Amino acid sequence: MTMLDSQLMLDSQPFVPEDRNNATVVSSAPFSQSTFPQTPSAPPAESSPAEFLHPTSVTVPSDSFPSDELFPPEQFKSQEEPSADAAQTELFETNPPPWELAVEDDVLLASIVFSKSPHGPYDYRIPDSLREDLKPGMRVGVPLGHRKKSTLGWCVAVKEGSAAHRKLRDVAELLDDTPLCDAALVRLVMWMGHYYQVPAGQVFDTLIPSSVRAGAGTRQTTYFTPAKDLTDEQISKLPAKQQAVVRLLISSGKPTTAAELAVAVGCTEDPIRRLRKKEILIPEVRREMHSNIRILAQHNDGERKQKLELTEQQQAALERINTAVDSGRGRTLLLHGVTGSGKTEVYIKAIEHVVSQAGSAIVMVPEISLTPQTRGRFESRFDSVAVLHSQMSPSERHYHWQRIRRGEVQVVIGPRSAVFAPLPNLGLIVLDEEHDTSFKQDSQPRYHARKVAHARAMALGIPLLLGSATPSLEAWHASQCGHAELISMPNRVANRPMPDVQLVDLRIRDERGGSGAISRPLHAAVLETIRDKGQAILLLNRRGFATTIQCPSCGHVVACPDCDMPLTHHRDGGKAMCHYCDYTIGTPPWCPACRFDGIRYGGLGTQKLEMEAKAKFPNARIARMDSDTMKRPGSHQRVLSEFRNGDIDMLLGTQMIAKGLDFPNVLLVGVINADSALHFPDFRAAERTFQLVTQVAGRTGRGDRGGRVIVQTFTPEHPAIQAASRHDYHKFVEEEMVNRRKFNYPPLGSVARIIIRGPLEDKTEAVADGILARLESARDLLGSEVRILGPAPPPIGRLRGKYRFHLLLQATEAAVVGETIRRALADFKTDPKDEIEFLVDIDPVNLL
Ligand SMILES: [Zn+2]
Ligand SMILES: [Zn+2]
Repeated sequence: MTMLDSQLMLDSQPFVPEDRNNATVVSSAPFSQSTFPQTPSAPPAESSPAEFLHPTSVTVPSDSFPSDELFPPEQFKSQEEPSADAAQTELFETNPPPWELAVEDDVLLASIVFSKSPHGPYDYRIPDSLREDLKPGMRVGVPLGHRKKSTLGWCVAVKEGSAAHRKLRDVAELLDDTPLCDAALVRLVMWMGHYYQVPAGQVFDTLIPSSVRAGAGTRQTTYFTPAKDLTDEQISKLPAKQQAVVRLLISSGKPTTAAELAVAVGCTEDPIRRLRKKEILIPEVRREMHSNIRILAQHNDGERKQKLELTEQQQAALERINTAVDSGRGRTLLLHGVTGSGKTEVYIKAIEHVVSQAGSAIVMVPEISLTPQTRGRFESRFDSVAVLHSQMSPSERHYHWQRIRRGEVQVVIGPRSAVFAPLPNLGLIVLDEEHDTSFKQDSQPRYHARKVAHARAMALGIPLLLGSATPSLEAWHASQCGHAELISMPNRVANRPMPDVQLVDLRIRDERGGSGAISRPLHAAVLETIRDKGQAILLLNRRGFATTIQCPSCGHVVACPDCDMPLTHHRDGGKAMCHYCDYTIGTPPWCPACRFDGIRYGGLGTQKLEMEAKAKFPNARIARMDSDTMKRPGSHQRVLSEFRNGDIDMLLGTQMIAKGLDFPNVLLVGVINADSALHFPDFRAAERTFQLVTQVAGRTGRGDRGGRVIVQTFTPEHPAIQAASRHDYHKFVEEEMVNRRKFNYPPLGSVARIIIRGPLEDKTEAVADGILARLESARDLLGSEVRILGPAPPPIGRLRGKYRFHLLLQATEAAVVGETIRRALADFKTDPKDEIEFLVDIDPVNLL
């Protein structure tokens, strides 16, 4: 992911839409990996399909949450997939065939998967030369079909075969010295492939960073060792320089490069070349890290280190986590602590406990919360912390990955991909802000870090610690049915009160005050805050200046030609941009439809808010924080550090400023429009609204001077906004669960989504109808109760020039939904010339 991509994602995640009236910003590249259609191809010549690797070997304790979704029940195990043995029986009448009866029955096979079609797994014979070295988790080169060059694949299993398997083709070469993932991670890959219905080879590509696969920042170095059976007599016959080289090498006893030898002996490299020719020196090529990799150290943003004594509730929480760590069992803990209750300190202390037993830990946080402050807190407490983030160079990433794998790292901190960190002695996985939607990947494989972390923790028998002030209903529900243990921290540290929240009803003209976005009460509160030398945060979750460009004469709205979405006007440079595909034009000075000279900019973005704030508070120092201002590396850190130093009075921006920031001098938080996510065609709209308002409100009242929150809304009576204004999570959950129960939506049921897209509307719809028919017959065959909705155009009916349709599947059990789709799409093919693609999204968090 490029830096720009990741930053676009920062405030364009589906979590909280920036746009109120229109369906919102999906990621900048929701379909960046064109991996579909998933058409299974015929097995290549001479290899037989390996047994489908249902990862049933992973043992999951029954009390894990939600265990029933992890693996398909027995009755859904596919019967049709032929095992390797079955395939062989078809080949030969007797097994083994008569002409091979005499041959020793000693064949070792490797199951290989591929990231590109055909995906396998296919079985290959392991030649004797590779028997000792080939292990699951390594990359190999194998012959595939009629391709001339060998194809890169991943070994997922090594097993014994019979003489009949001698017919199989050989593994041609080994590409790694050691496995890139251990056996447990290989099993995780197989489970992910199955659960998310993605070829295992593609999961490997996600699990192992491309920088690692490419060996970024490494070079090949040749080392020399003396030949094995050299006699002293042989050596003494060599010319003097050559003798010196060989003797030095023998006495040092370690492989040495030509350059080092030449320096040590005081000769040129010529004698070494001659020795190599005579096969007296044996070369060995190794791939090594550059020693001069520049590891960018990010500095603390200026927070003073504080000595932290745990409060009673923190201490109680810590003891329960430590007990879980010591139990040696896989279990899930949900730490529900209000904003400002000191969850991070509890994580740190729990990890100290793990590290004291020579264990290591993973801490996942949403990337925007990965501030210098967060890093600093961990880095100051542990000897060896690896922080993974999207702005790392490939060599830096590779460097850290190798350190992690060698067991040199105690704590890995990063966004969702940190769930795959290959720590050897993993003792605890922490998922902070577990409700955050950035933990779900919106490209293939569409995994959720919480789900994957759970699978990994349960397989390893270690605790998974989920933390949030606003737990997802999934996590909350798990805690209510005994799949997760609930730990509550209902109070802030130092007994600080929760901030007062005042709702401003924007329907009342007097409250609204004038034509701007800042209401009368908010205006007064900002003035007061600045007078008191405090700081303010204003949240508006839409970037740009104006979110619609419309002609007042004919009503024409300037829209993206590739997506059915209006363009957003950006004042800097006078650009009109599509926030869905980045299509950009100069903002038209007159109506493109009727030539009317007086086009109007409607809707409110952060740029316009910034202008209004600067006009209304001319003495305040104001900074804007959204993906447009945060494009340059380090700008995020710089603004936060200026804010901490008091060089900025007011920070305004998108949800980037809503999460994780901890500044004691913030006396006021203003939410410009709390309804922005509320009226969304998504069953989680209320939950997201509650979370966003609660989280941003939590940015204040973190010091001795208290704090207040002003929430502007058109629907102050909405239960989500009411609950958020009272900091009442339980009330919100209680009411929201009633809605979910009504339609069996998660967390009560399970949902999957299939998106079909193509350049022609009618053909795309026809394919969607065809998939519906297959889903229905698969459902009937399984006798399962799955509700199928659609196909229908999603809220974004056209994206990047492609028409879109989607189908929604719903059932009580995730396994039933999964198996229905698996069966329906098993051998489904589309006509390549129609360019229609379909993709499966299990547990979607975005329904646009
Ligand atoms: Zn017009
Ligand atoms: Zn577009």
